[in-house]
This record gives sequence, structure tokens and C-alpha cells, in this order.
Amino acid sequence: MAGTYVFNVVAPDGQVLNKEIEFVVVPGENGEIGVLPNHAPLIAGLGIGVIRYTENGKVNKVAISGGFMEVIHNKVTVLANTAETAGNINIQRAEAAKERAEKRLKEWTPDTDLARAEVALKRAIARIKAVS
Ligand code: ATP
Repeated sequence: MAGTYVFNVVAPDGQVLNKEIEFVVVPGENGEIGVLPNHAPLIAGLGIGVIRYTENGKVNKVAISGGFMEVIHNKVTVLANTAETAGNINIQRAEAAKERAEKRLKEWTPDTDLARAEVALKRAIARIKAVS
């Protein structure tokens, strides 16, 4: 069908999405990347954030924590470290992870792994944003 392309999201434990969509915006390592039909071939590294894709005119969200995107022959594949559709996100778990990470950052000691706490916080915020 003109005006759509295949959008595939895969995480280590299996396929998360396989859809015909009109548009996607992904969190690239250096900013957001939007993909329309017939996009030129591309490989990009992804950061922690929210994917927004448009299917039948409706925008849906997926939280991801880094990975890669390949665009080729009207097919977009995201290989994500973790990926959850909004409907599969446990919001209480994400809120608890956010609080834990914030507490670690606030009460840091020389033994605190700041980088680990910061990425845990980013993952939790992405999950909360994907649901909102
Ligand atoms: P937590 O501390 O709650 O485990 P985390 O950010 O450390 O969060 P990850 O290591 O990123 O968790 O993910 C581990 C697995 O759990 C992945 O399969 C991921 O998709 C899933 N996952 C993590 N948080 C959630 C959530 N809030 N809702 C649904 N699935 C989640």
C-alpha cells in the first residue's frame, strides 16, 4: 500500500511489534529521527527514550533502552536492548524504579555507581512517558 511501510521492533526475548505504519519517530543517539515511506537506507544507534509511530492515523508509543535502527527497502527494523509497548508497561514498577534511582543519586556516596543510577532513571522516565 502506498504511504505505509513495515515497522518491526525486536527485543532480546522476541518480537515486540510488526506493523504497517505511516510514520515513526525514534530517539536517536544524537536526537530524534523521523522516518516517512521511501526513506533512504540508514543505520542509526538509538538512545533511551520513547518511539512514537503512526498507524492508521493514530500515534502509539514504545519505550526503548537503546539499540539500533535499520531502514532499507521500505522496512524499518529496531533492534532494542529492551522494548515495551505502552500497554505492556507496568507503571508501578517504573515509578518504583524511578524513585530508587532518584534516591541513589540524591544520597550518593563514593561507592555509588552514578552512571548506572542515571541510566536506570532514564529508563524509568521513558517508560512513564510512554504510558502518559
Ligand atoms: P527494574 O529495576 O524495574 O527491573 P530496569 O530498568 O532495571 O527496571 P531493565 O533491565 O531495563 O529493567 O529490563 C528488564 C526486563 O524487564 C526487560 O525485559 C524489560 O522489557 C522489562 N521491564 C522493565 N521495566 C518494566 C516495566 N515497568 N514494565 C514492563 N516491563 C518492564
